[in-house]
Amino acid sequence: MNYPCLAATESSETTTTMTPLREKLSKIENPGNQEMSLPFSELSMDSEEHLVQIIKSYAQSLSHNKMSFLGYPTNLEFDYEALAPLLHFHINNAGDPFMGSSYTLNSSAFEVCVLDWFASLWEIPKNQYWGYVTTGGTEGNLHGILVGREQLTDGVLYASEESHYSVFKIARICRIQCVKVATLKSGEIDCCDLKASLRANKDKPAIINLNIGTTMKGAIDDLDLVVQTLEECGFSCDRFYIHCDGALFGLMLPFVKQAPRFSFKKPIGSIAISGHKFIGCPIPCGVVITRLEHMNVMSSDIEIIASKDSTITGSRNGHAPIFL
Ligand SMILES: *Cc1c(COP(=O)(O)O)cnc(C)c1O
Repeated sequence: MNYPCLAATESSETTTTMTPLREKLSKIENPGNQEMSLPFSELSMDSEEHLVQIIKSYAQSLSHNKMSFLGYPTNLEFDYEALAPLLHFHINNAGDPFMGSSYTLNSSAFEVCVLDWFASLWEIPKNQYWGYVTTGGTEGNLHGILVGREQLTDGVLYASEESHYSVFKIARICRIQCVKVATLKSGEIDCCDLKASLRANKDKPAIINLNIGTTMKGAIDDLDLVVQTLEECGFSCDRFYIHCDGALFGLMLPFVKQAPRFSFKKPIGSIAISGHKFIGCPIPCGVVITRLEHMNVMSSDIEIIASKDSTITGSRNGHAPIFL
């Protein structure tokens, strides 16, 4: 059979300059200076000794790369040796952290402690927030922006052009109309341009992605000015939703004197942070916190896990909350 759509993808040329993994693998030299080509393809025939050797040389190359690792904002200084015994367990927090789950090998108790800590950091009472431990900044942004969309179903998403690439992908996934807003030299959102864009779409509610630290410049959008701009354009607080992308600085800022304050005492709907950047978790993870009142439209009861389906993924990493 002829599948024209497949033929098109097969023949399309790679436009990036990145080296494909297979090509790279065949070039990687292991510490013994032997070619290490696709070690995983022959696993079934390997002796246990050989497998131990593969892991050992992989660990060595990680240590080597770590020494010269600059540029991606992750904290590499940590020692979680004490948690090693937990690797003997499959820990899964499927479902809503506040509902418990019929899957008893869970760490929901740890998760709720982590969430309570973040809730108090961002000044929202325990009985007024909802949240969960995510797979990272992207999932937190997806959940936050989706909550916004579910509140304001025909909302337009506004995000500065220096927002993280995940935000524009999320707009596509959720099919939300997205307006890119210009930035100032500092990388902050330009509220004059925001004003013009809001006015051009003033018949539709506004969902704002607000940056607490942009990936490239660490720029922090001015929350008070954004709220003021929304009000000046005639958006009452029931016609806007602000999600804060705090993957980079959301956790750090509350501890910095004279830094701008991000808090649920201001009219924001959600904040997402990364667990592997500033904190330094050995596995990607993050946290998203939103207002409990927004969650009524976001969850449904699921019998098989005896919990609520309110998270993006089903099964969730049960080790992550413990590391956090
Ligand atoms: C890193 C980053 C993200 C995405 O986080 P992931 O954990 O890679 O999904 C989102 N927003 C900002 C500002 C970031 O720096």
